[in-house]
Amino acid sequence: MPNSFFTGGCLCGAIRYECSSRPIIMLNCHCRDCQQLSGGPFTPVVYVPAKAFKVTKGALHHYTTPSIANGHNKRGFCANCGSRITGAETERGIGITASSLDDPRWFQPKMNVWVSDAQPWDMLDPQLPGFDRYPPS
Ligand SMILES: [Zn+2]
Ligand SMILES: [Zn+2]
Repeated sequence: MPNSFFTGGCLCGAIRYECSSRPIIMLNCHCRDCQQLSGGPFTPVVYVPAKAFKVTKGALHHYTTPSIANGHNKRGFCANCGSRITGAETERGIGITASSLDDPRWFQPKMNVWVSDAQPWDMLDPQLPGFDRYPPS
């Protein structure tokens, strides 16, 4: 179960973060950008209020991709080991990769987004709602 306080970091340990809020939403993003950045078929995303997220060690580097939702998608990673840590960063919220959590087991995605970009070898849970791009807001 999601905690109201949790921590995580990158593979090499240069980046550490903490979050002081329960997630707003958890989802899997299957967009093509996430595929190339993550090296896997999708990114598991824990979306939290921006104010609740704090980098406690090191500094994230950022790479920005075009986004039809926000104009751009600011994605944070460790410049030393390349681990992807954040994405979809705005003033309101920020997405954390579930894989970077110290305890990723509590991650429970509630939907699949960007299903239109999903690969034929991707495995989508048919029980979850899926959206071609973003869910209707
Ligand atoms: Zn690192
Ligand atoms: Zn994506």
